[in-house]
Amino acid sequence: GDGPKGDIGLIGLAVMGQNLVMNMNDSGYSVVVYNRTVAKVDAFLEKEAKDSRVIPAHSIEELCANLKSPRRVMFLVKAGKPVDDFIEQLVPHLEKGDIIIDGGNSHYPDSIRRTKELEKKGLLFVGTGVSGGEEGARYGPSLMPGGHPDAWPHIKEIFQSISAKSGDEPCCDWVGENGAGHYVKMVHNGIEYGDMQLICEAYSLLRNVLGMSNDECADVFDEWNQGALDSYLIEITANILRYKDTEDGKGGPDTPSLVDKIVDRAQQKGTGKWTVGSSLDMGVPVTLISEAVFARMLSSMKEERVRASQKLDGPSAEFKGDKKAFIEAVRQALYASKIVSYAQGYMLFREAAKEYSWNLNYGGIALMWRGGCIIRSAFLGDIRDAFSEDPELENLLLSPFFKKEVAGCGDGWREAVSVAARHGVPIPAFMTALAFFDGYRSATVPANLLQAQRDYFGAHTYERTDKDKGEYFHTNWTGTG
Ligand code: NAP
Repeated sequence: GDGPKGDIGLIGLAVMGQNLVMNMNDSGYSVVVYNRTVAKVDAFLEKEAKDSRVIPAHSIEELCANLKSPRRVMFLVKAGKPVDDFIEQLVPHLEKGDIIIDGGNSHYPDSIRRTKELEKKGLLFVGTGVSGGEEGARYGPSLMPGGHPDAWPHIKEIFQSISAKSGDEPCCDWVGENGAGHYVKMVHNGIEYGDMQLICEAYSLLRNVLGMSNDECADVFDEWNQGALDSYLIEITANILRYKDTEDGKGGPDTPSLVDKIVDRAQQKGTGKWTVGSSLDMGVPVTLISEAVFARMLSSMKEERVRASQKLDGPSAEFKGDKKAFIEAVRQALYASKIVSYAQGYMLFREAAKEYSWNLNYGGIALMWRGGCIIRSAFLGDIRDAFSEDPELENLLLSPFFKKEVAGCGDGWREAVSVAARHGVPIPAFMTALAFFDGYRSATVPANLLQAQRDYFGAHTYERTDKDKGEYFHTNWTGTG
């Protein structure tokens, strides 16, 4: 017929938008595209989208007029004000029941607000996490949609057909109400910070304790990638460590690794910080991601570290143990710490679900991360299984599988941490993971003394072990007055 042909509209033709459009196009959808700088629409149609069914729009009005009802319009624009600006421009051209989808890295409170505001206008808002970068967007990202639940039946088919797959299962499912999708994407990014930091610490131990070369380290990571640590980040780490700096034009066996020429000053865009902020707000000890964020901050103080390195001494131990056994200890430390990090991430989900009344599907989240995104790994399949076996699982560390895995890593984990301490090699994430694990499995911690101190100087009162919970006592500790 002569009616509108577009299945979905997409605003924002930068890297992510362009790739997602071509992905939707390959899956058989006709996408109507628009961009603030309108010239990019025609440039896209002339080049990347040549000979496709992509439909150009040169105004918001034209975009909306070309969409089947209910209209689905997705943004892949810079997070923040641009999203609100586009919503404002779109609303006059939409009808009740139409759907607005934000695929950018928006902060979840914005998605909560937008869902509510648009619901009042009869519009359905979706905030979706999109992960996997350029490559993921093009060939199958991990998608984490949340928002107005009535939108899901209208976007499910498109989303699940363009997403990554784990076996036959799409790495995309409905996450929950209002900001849940962007919340899960935020924690995903935090976990990504943690995973990367853990790998860097393992690398640092191999390099600085054992004195291994980059090529030797790459072999170790390749081997680890065959087992429980099988993941995208371990795989690319091996590739990075083998990459030579051909800038010098030599190319022989002595060609330096490119990684050795890269300045050790890490940057961040803020999603890790958001995760830590949320964990502090909710009172959940997400210590590993926090250390990963702090480690980036410490790394960025390069000049000050260089000055301090000339003034502060540390131990100058020489490794005398069994090299092969230590490599295995490092692997165990990495694996156990990673389990702790995900356990903490899931503790945060549990609290956020309570706080925001989200009905989160914990196993489903692991499946969404199983493929398509940066943290994709075989390990996420095990997390999924743990929640399938017991949807009410109190903590990942208590699942029979992970309990056994961590127990099997205990010796190596403690060995790696003690050797690092003796050698003065900083591995904050490995150490905080172990400290958390030992704290979590302790029936008693020294907070009794802490409560006494609080009561001593501030009359903050305390509970007694031999009295009922909720009954508070105060002591006049100095016995005067
Ligand atoms: P980007 O650089 O974040 O954003 C560029 C797009 O935003 C362009 O279409 C640009 O339009 C538009 N834009 C910027 N400021 C605007 C404003 N004030 N008003 C209207 N439009 C504005 O692009 P990206 O890297 O493709 O990422 C898109 C979104 O996906 C972001 O939220 C990003 O955080 C998220 N994301 C990115 C990745 C990734 O790997 N890059 C992965 C996952 C999620 P003009 O062409 O007119 O400038």
